[in-house]
Amino acid sequence: VSVPPGPSCIFCRIVAGTADASFVYEDDDLVAFMDINPVTRGHLLVVPRAHLPGLADVPPQVGGRMFVVGRELAAALRAGPMTTQGINLFLADGAAAMQSVFHAHLHVIPRFRGDGFRFVRDHWSGSPDRTELEADAAAVRAALGGAEA
Ligand code: AMP
Ligand code: ZN
Repeated sequence: VSVPPGPSCIFCRIVAGTADASFVYEDDDLVAFMDINPVTRGHLLVVPRAHLPGLADVPPQVGGRMFVVGRELAAALRAGPMTTQGINLFLADGAAAMQSVFHAHLHVIPRFRGDGFRFVRDHWSGSPDRTELEADAAAVRAALGGAEA
């Protein structure tokens, strides 16, 4: 579902200044602006200037900066006028993970007791035993294949 950079990508248009956004932060690699359809008041998005569709496309330095900026924005929301009681950082990678804009972005979502935002799980799959956890851990270690940071 790779959208080329340019007019078809809403975040590329925002970065280029051809679509509206309410910015809170800009640097050489990243911008951050208000989400147009906020989960809660103050919901922000941290967005690379480059059209990087998925998490795997984001270079480590840019991804690290996304987290650093997200962390600073979280602190600003906590210190600011919106009486933020908590923060969720959220990144959707892939349609199955609820990614709808295929230009990578980190959500910074202010949380308030009773705000009603929930992750809902339809099916409780039960608690795997240690053997299953160890088998899955071994499979993930094998997939890492020496690519550990
Ligand atoms: P997702 O791809 O599901 O992680 O989320 C995409 C997010 O982008 C949603 O929260 C949208 O509300 C937000 N969004 C989509 N278009 C715009 C826009 N033009 N300006 C600001 N936020 C947007
Ligand atoms: Zn884009």
